[in-house]
Amino acid sequence: MKRLLAGAALVALIAAGALATQFAQAQSGQTSPKAAKAGQLASYPAIDDARLRTHIKTLADDFFEGRSPGTRGDDMATTYVAGAMAALGLEPGGDNGTWFQNFELNRFTTAPRGTFAVEDEIWYQGKDIMMISRKADGSSYNLVDAPLVFAGYGVNAPEKNWDDFAGVNWDGKIALVLINDPDFEAAPGDAVAGMFGGKAMQWYGRWPYKFEAAAKVGAAGVLIIHEDAPAAYGWGVVRNSNGTRFDFVRPDSGSSLAAIEGWMQRDVAVELFRKSGLDFEALKKAARTPGFKPVPLNQTATIDIGVTRESVATRNVVGVLKGASRPNETVLIGAHHDHLGIREPINGDKIYNGAMDNASGMAGMLEIARTLAQGPRPARSIVFASWAAEEQGLLGSDYYVNNPRFPLEKTAAAFTLD
Ligand SMILES: [Zn+2]
Repeated sequence: MKRLLAGAALVALIAAGALATQFAQAQSGQTSPKAAKAGQLASYPAIDDARLRTHIKTLADDFFEGRSPGTRGDDMATTYVAGAMAALGLEPGGDNGTWFQNFELNRFTTAPRGTFAVEDEIWYQGKDIMMISRKADGSSYNLVDAPLVFAGYGVNAPEKNWDDFAGVNWDGKIALVLINDPDFEAAPGDAVAGMFGGKAMQWYGRWPYKFEAAAKVGAAGVLIIHEDAPAAYGWGVVRNSNGTRFDFVRPDSGSSLAAIEGWMQRDVAVELFRKSGLDFEALKKAARTPGFKPVPLNQTATIDIGVTRESVATRNVVGVLKGASRPNETVLIGAHHDHLGIREPINGDKIYNGAMDNASGMAGMLEIARTLAQGPRPARSIVFASWAAEEQGLLGSDYYVNNPRFPLEKTAAAFTLD
């Protein structure tokens, strides 16, 4: 499965141009910004289309096996990136003078035959529902007769006076939540319109947030009701995860997390609501109203899944171009190198190459590194970071933020190519 789109080159070009302009302005001193800009831009080499293509073709090659975290392909891809950074004259910015920030992840895999049963009806893992658990000690992820409660969009935003979990004791209960945020389908003039950034998905709309928010109120489970448009991807993307989920090694072994996390098809939710005499669309509309309160279904669910855990090692790659006059201040430019690895074959091809997501972003980052390394040295240090395990919930960049190689309070800006 190989796709190469010219868009990647365009994104990189725009990004490089904008950055070069910024550096030019920062360094312009007394001269008029316009003249300085023209002069500075001229002295940076142009972004090279052929080099972009070479990086994309290389990283998306079958050789790297789809770059899933902790695999041989992940190892080889990060070695390639470190080599490319070294060749550009960057300095190693990782741990102990190396190019790498190594860290451990847990890989959880749910067995294919898990069930979600309500009354006399059973839904199956993979087909109708995808369930995972990140309880590393393997305890208590099966739930018996857990009450189901609809919690709107699963958003608790005190600064907007919005709490979809309000007024419920969540102990032992499963929260059913919508994907995206309450104003995604708002009509102009609705009270909620624009409150959550309109069509754009913010942090409150994303699935990792919803898992976190449900855990915070103490829910035993949280299942996202999948719909293609607000999720911005189809059910196939959810199903293709194969019930595999990576997570940090948590000091509390995941005891603060909901035991069950996952997604269900919209049809399953519609049927669950119907069984309780509730109308899915009507409740979805109610969930867009300020002051919405959770709605209990009069159904309970019994969940039976098997989960295995393995430890895997992965790594960020970090290289730095030391600044000319303010080297202790940094600008971070990052892109993730991981993709989905080897999964269910599509037309007989089981390697998910990830040319666009995100070999193209990696190519852009490396090409920006080359132009900056070969032009006038920017005032601030530029840190180039190749993030691991982005597809698993931004784990590599999250790790960096918690273990920064350059102080965050001296990091002036961060750019991401994806
Ligand atoms: Zn991506």
